[in-house]
Amino acid sequence: MCVTKFKQTEGKMNLRGIDVQTVSVQPLESKKENVKQAKSVETVQGNTGEEKKGSNALSSYFRGGQAVNFTGFPCSKSKFNVKQEEGVPCSCCGRLMMTSKGVDNFVKKAANAKGEYLQEVLSANMEFFRGTEKSVVNFFMKTSQKNPDANMKDLLVQYAPNAKVLLEEEQKNVLAEVSQKASVLGKDNPIQQRVERALVDIANSTDAKHFERKPFLKDIADLTGRMEDKELGGQILDSAVKLPMSKDSIEAFIVKYSHDNKSGQDIARRLAQPAIATAEHIHPDTLGGPDNTANYMSECADCNNKRGHMPYSEWMENYPNMPRSVQRNIDEVTERIINGNLGSRYDDYPLDLQQAIDRETDGVIKLKVKNPEEIDKAREERGIPKPVDNHPHPPRVNK
Ligand SMILES: [Zn+2]
Repeated sequence: MCVTKFKQTEGKMNLRGIDVQTVSVQPLESKKENVKQAKSVETVQGNTGEEKKGSNALSSYFRGGQAVNFTGFPCSKSKFNVKQEEGVPCSCCGRLMMTSKGVDNFVKKAANAKGEYLQEVLSANMEFFRGTEKSVVNFFMKTSQKNPDANMKDLLVQYAPNAKVLLEEEQKNVLAEVSQKASVLGKDNPIQQRVERALVDIANSTDAKHFERKPFLKDIADLTGRMEDKELGGQILDSAVKLPMSKDSIEAFIVKYSHDNKSGQDIARRLAQPAIATAEHIHPDTLGGPDNTANYMSECADCNNKRGHMPYSEWMENYPNMPRSVQRNIDEVTERIINGNLGSRYDDYPLDLQQAIDRETDGVIKLKVKNPEEIDKAREERGIPKPVDNHPHPPRVNK
């Protein structure tokens, strides 16, 4: 069977290794899915009929065009309503997510806040912060107690000289390693020249002009790309990327955001941004996954960026709580659907997500969800009217 073949050859669950026959037969086997079947559906071909990047991958994934139903509706990532619901846990890490409105409100409150009010605003949002941003928030909580008249920007500027010493020490260590690796290229080679210029930039750094990681890496990538010894070039580049960045170094964060070109708004937005809810393609778009609600789940920006196109088998090694997270996510989203927040078109979404997740994880994650009938029943029991949908339904292919 094809699943086995892929598992053996690649040693891990592979998205393309899914047995399509099982997938398309599945709805017929289930008893409680009459509603779902009666519903008009779109075939994959219907969805990706136009020329589109990844359509080849999609057709091979679906075994030469065998129809697999995406029973949701076509929807751009930006229009995926689930993202606009406050207080939904991320389907991967399980941490609470922020909506774009929530981020705007936080930015408004925190950008110029000082002293106790700043600490209050940060405390109230503590569950949203992740990684380095959370360390920076803890830094603000501590330092603002001693500096009640300072806003976040002031605190960064005050502390920047200390952070700069630590950051520069680490930058110099990395640059020394790059220079040392390049030393076999002869005296004063272009890579060492570039390192020298970087050291001068660090020594003379001001707010207006300072050493930056990205342009340096671009130059080193260009130079090593032209080297004959590809292995040595690769090793030099490996060393260069060790330069700290604001994503994973609190010192780099403090120095970067203490510069003149960063405002209190920029700082606040950066703190909240990793928690923002995004629409994640369950089957990656680069592999032909369609822009369809049946192929979306809501995930925090942090997880979305980190996961990239990693298969779920690999990703779940980072977040073994994912089965629980995605269940919590859909439970919360189902509540919002019952309450009518999302419009009637989302009544099928829990069932769609269940099928998509089952398919993409090779059955590792089995969600327990409500079908549209059960959602209607829950509304009746709670006296909630069925939501009216103002959006015209997109054309569907009836089967
Ligand atoms: Zn997450």
